[in-house]
Amino acid sequence: MGLTVENARFGGEAVGVRCDEDGAIAALGAEVAAQTGDEVIDVGGAHLVPPLVNGHTHAAMTLFRGSGGDLPLMPWLEEKIWPIEAKLEAEDVYRGARLACAEMIRSGTTRFWDMYWQPEATARAVEEMGIRAAIGAPLIDLGGYHEQLREAALRSVEALEQFGPLITPALAPHAIYTVSEESLRWIGELSAERDLPVQIHLSETEKEVQDCIAAHGCRPAFYLDRLGFLSERTILAHGVWLDAEELALIAERGATVVANPVANMKLAVGGVLPYPAARAAGVHVGLGTDGAGSNDSLDLLADLKFFALTQKHAAADPTAVDAAEAWTVATGTQAPLLGATPLEPGAPADFLLLRPDAPELGIGELTAGLVYAASGAVVDTTVVAGKVLMRDGEIEGLDEIVAQAAKRARHLGL
Ligand SMILES: [Zn+2]
Repeated sequence: MGLTVENARFGGEAVGVRCDEDGAIAALGAEVAAQTGDEVIDVGGAHLVPPLVNGHTHAAMTLFRGSGGDLPLMPWLEEKIWPIEAKLEAEDVYRGARLACAEMIRSGTTRFWDMYWQPEATARAVEEMGIRAAIGAPLIDLGGYHEQLREAALRSVEALEQFGPLITPALAPHAIYTVSEESLRWIGELSAERDLPVQIHLSETEKEVQDCIAAHGCRPAFYLDRLGFLSERTILAHGVWLDAEELALIAERGATVVANPVANMKLAVGGVLPYPAARAAGVHVGLGTDGAGSNDSLDLLADLKFFALTQKHAAADPTAVDAAEAWTVATGTQAPLLGATPLEPGAPADFLLLRPDAPELGIGELTAGLVYAASGAVVDTTVVAGKVLMRDGEIEGLDEIVAQAAKRARHLGL
């Protein structure tokens, strides 16, 4: 027994989708018929589209929404975020992450890449909510805590490996300015040995680049490469200040760069990832929201418009990225590591159905509408691994999820 979706539209055709009991797409097409015992939903002509992949976030930071203080990155981290994070309990992270999952399900994201404290609490929330996440504990060894960093990394990976197939354990060194050379080298080796993906913030501010040149004699991507850190398992979040030589190196190593245009604009870091140059170099590019502390939304579909427009604006060229290409960035299909799910038999049954009556999508080409006119509000139904997580825009228990997160935020004084 599985799920059968009837009366959807895909590529201009009327189609059905049948999902098997193992959560994969068994059939997709005009002739799909439900089998005895299937859960059947008639979606009334809704567009079937692949889901979005949020390539960089800190899910539980929903608790910090609205408390950013309109500050630059370092004062924001040092004055607002880190003192409160020092008091975080697992229950805070769990409640914040549940809220984040609900927001992502509502706006069409079914997989996200997370870096946050108490990663088991996030993993528990993700499993319960039914979406997918690659999760890593932030690794920081400022002040010489190399041993503690290693213990924390190994402990978190071991804990995350106990979860089911929705969770992918990852390593998440915070940044080159918060992790020592020695630890970055060790993390690169561990990633290779255990085939673990690694996410790190890189080249978010110009100061980070200048500091790297002053301390190590080279730009950030070259510094990481010298430590054996860059590979096809690496995700570099931000990449605002990467230059042409760094992009060529990143492409050669097969690493992925995730653009976070809204967080970059809110923290006013002075630019955005140079996408046309990254693509010309052959870099895999994805899209992320970053945390709700610095965005403040987790609606990746809304951020997709910002991605496309900031690229056009920065290049003074409306052809810098077109709608179809921007869509491939948001669905993760440009970057194999991010884990996009194609709509085809045998693939995981992760997909979206858009509101058939969404006014933004009633006229014109669908992809252009999704990129330039829509937000996550056009998502009607979200399915992950053949399970319906949202139907008719409703998520079961959402009021309680919001109330519990708000209670924990108050408890933290936010
Ligand atoms: Zn981040």
